[in-house]
Formats: sequence, C-alpha cells, structure tokens
Amino acid sequence: MRLEHLPEEFIKASAVIDEIERHGFEAYFVGGSVRDTLLGKKSHDVDIATSAYPEEIKQIFKRTVDVGIDHGTVLVLYEEDQYEITTFRTESTYQDYRRPDTVTFVRSLEEDLKRRDFTINALALEKNGTIIDLFDGLADLKNGVIRAVGDPKERFHEDALRMMRGLRFASQLDFDIEKETMGAIYQFHSLLSKISVERITIEFVKLLLGENRQKGLLPFIETECYQSCPGLKEKTMALLRFSELPNKMIEEERMVWAMLLRELAIPITESRDFLKLWKLSNHLIHDVTELSYGLGQRLEADWQPKDLFRMGLEKVLIVEKMLFFYGQEVKLEEAEKLFSGLPITDRKQLKVTGNDLLAEIDQKPGKWLGRLIDQLEEAVINGVLVNEKQALIAYAKEFVKKE
Ligand code: ATP
Ligand code: MG
Repeated sequence: MRLEHLPEEFIKASAVIDEIERHGFEAYFVGGSVRDTLLGKKSHDVDIATSAYPEEIKQIFKRTVDVGIDHGTVLVLYEEDQYEITTFRTESTYQDYRRPDTVTFVRSLEEDLKRRDFTINALALEKNGTIIDLFDGLADLKNGVIRAVGDPKERFHEDALRMMRGLRFASQLDFDIEKETMGAIYQFHSLLSKISVERITIEFVKLLLGENRQKGLLPFIETECYQSCPGLKEKTMALLRFSELPNKMIEEERMVWAMLLRELAIPITESRDFLKLWKLSNHLIHDVTELSYGLGQRLEADWQPKDLFRMGLEKVLIVEKMLFFYGQEVKLEEAEKLFSGLPITDRKQLKVTGNDLLAEIDQKPGKWLGRLIDQLEEAVINGVLVNEKQALIAYAKEFVKKE
C-alpha cells in the first residue's frame, strides 16, 4: 500500500531521511505517528528508525543530543524541528519482565519491527509513502484490532507493560483486543507487579482518558490486570460500576481520579493514601482531593457558598462537568453565576487585615487571630456580615469577648 498524500510533518522530515540515505543507510518513519496517520488522526512526534548506528547518525548531522544513546536514540535538530532517530535494534533475554538485558543494534528493519508490541505499531513508512507491513498491521488497523506481534505470551512475558499498553490502545483507538492476545494478558496479568508503578499509572490514565473508555476498562477487569494495580485488588464490583458510567470521554486526569475514588467509595480521609500508591504528585493529589470532596457535596445538594469559595471557579466547573456521569444536569452557567455572586472570592478581599485587627484589639498576636479571620471570612461568605471595615471590626470585638 502507498499513501498518496503524506502529512506535512512527514514531508518536512523526509529531508532528514534523504540525508541518512545519502550516507548509504536506510531510514523509515515508524511507531505511533504512522499508525495515527493511517487512522486519519493528527499525529504528534514523527519517529524515525534507521540502519545507521548512533555514532553514524551523530556524524551525519551537525546538531544532535544524546537522549537515549544506550537504547540507540539520538535527537537530531534539523532546521527548526527535532526528530528522535533510533537505530534498528533487537532486545534479548528479558530477565525481570520489564527491561531488556541487552539491546543489540542491527541493520535489518524486519528485526526492529519484530520487537515492537502490536501489529498496528509495527508498520514502517517510506518517505515516498509506501507502507511496509510485515505483520498484517494494516488489516488490524482496518478491523480495529489490537494484536501482539508474534506470540503474545512471549511478548508479555518479555515486557509486562505491553499488557497495559494494549488495554490503553483499545480505549484510545476504540479497538478490540484479539482473542489470543487477550488470553495471554489474562495468563500473565500478575507480572504487572514487576513493573514500576509510575509506568503503569501513565498507561492507566491514558486508558481512562481514551475515546472509548469501556473498551479498555472491561478487558482490564476481565483479564484481572487490576488485581496487580495499586489499591485495586479485589475491587471488581467497584470497577464494573465505573465501567458502567456513561461512556463519554473524560476530559482530564483530575476527573479520572476523582471519579475512581467515588466508585471505590474511598473516604476523603483515605484518598491521599490511595493516590500516593499510584505515585501521583502532591499537587495532583491536592486537586483531586478537593474535586472529590466537591463532587460528593454537589451530588447531595446545590452549591454552598463556602464550598464555592474554597474550591475556586476552575474546580467548581470541573465538579459540575462530572455531574453528567452521575445522571445529573450540568449547570455551568448557573455555577458561574453563583460563584460571581459570592461577596468575596478571595480572603485578600476582606476589608480588614490582621494588622487592622491588632490595632483595634488590645491583645498580643496569637492563634486567636487566625481563628478570628476564619470566622470573619465565613460570616462574609455566608452573607451574615457585610464586608465593610466598621462592621468587621465590631464583629471582631464581639468575637474576642466571647473567646
Ligand atoms: P503514543 O501515541 O501514545 O505515543 P506510540 O505507539 O507512539 O503511542 P510510544 O511509547 O511513543 O507509543 O512508542 C513508540 C513505538 O515504540 C510504538 O509504536 C511501538 O512500536 C514501540 N514500543 C513502545 N513501547 C514498547 C514496548 N513496551 N514494547 C515493544 N514496543 C514498544
Ligand atoms: Mg509516540
């Protein structure tokens, strides 16, 4: 098969391939960008595979960066673009189910394509548009099938992460996992425990953000991969419930985690520990915890001023969007109106400062001041106190008397 019209980024990158060929080596486009182009999707980075060894690539191009030279990858800066150029390689004897013991550079494209995970990812594209399809990847692309290259058992045994990759491609591309591939995932699912959590997390999030989440999530459950994922052991029913939520795409990662926490019925007090198991950043954990609190509140009742204030508009709108998945009406405009109707949207807008209060109240600074400002803030937000200096000070004086 030959592609008549190469997308712009491939045409640009052809100059790089020309250059490599001029030096007597082969070079092809490979990987996700070839797959995505054939699917009519916008492809991102153009990856190039070549018979030239890394040192040879570095001699051909003036500006290069050693980004992964041990694995054969050199970053080439060419005009205003950059390309990852990887030497054809084979990977042999996987001892720990995740990293090849040795990477051997080879001169044959076929050897390189053989070590790739799925047939749809093992296509190569020549610069003139000709597709090299050694494993019937084109048919699988057309039929929407995820199929391991070669013997799936061997392939997942070599590198267990491929199982999670297969599941996430099913979701991202809206594809089905071929029967033998599926059987091998089921057989080897427990090898996932050998893979670093960070790498599993990346694939899991991509799976849940995919175009057809159910298509990844159901086989994730069926093959029991979840049994070897952080905090999901024996959570079959909760995951099935998650898979039954309306199958609309989830917009962003924070929503994924907030919704997962809800299905797993993890209380707010334990959410941090759960998210830590997945090695999420503190920043992300903070946001997700707020969203999950907000979602719980909003599913019970309308927005309360203190929750609007505490979460801020951006998160309020995200919570509102999540309501869709729970069969409730999403009222973005209304939420925005409620938010802008708050007497203050930031503590700094209070018409007194700590110093103002200290000047008026004859007491040494101490914990009482923080408590007082909290109270002032809450009273203003709830509309029981107007945000005017005199009123705030009067309220403060009463507060101190009572303390
Ligand atoms: P994405 O669109 O998410 O980048 P991708 O297919 O490009 O998808 P990458 O992780 O960028 O995925 O990998 C590029 C290519 O390298 C893949 O298409 C595949 O051919 C090969 N590959 C990546 N990871 C593996 C793996 N664990 N085992 C075998 N081949 C792999
Ligand atoms: Mg890629």
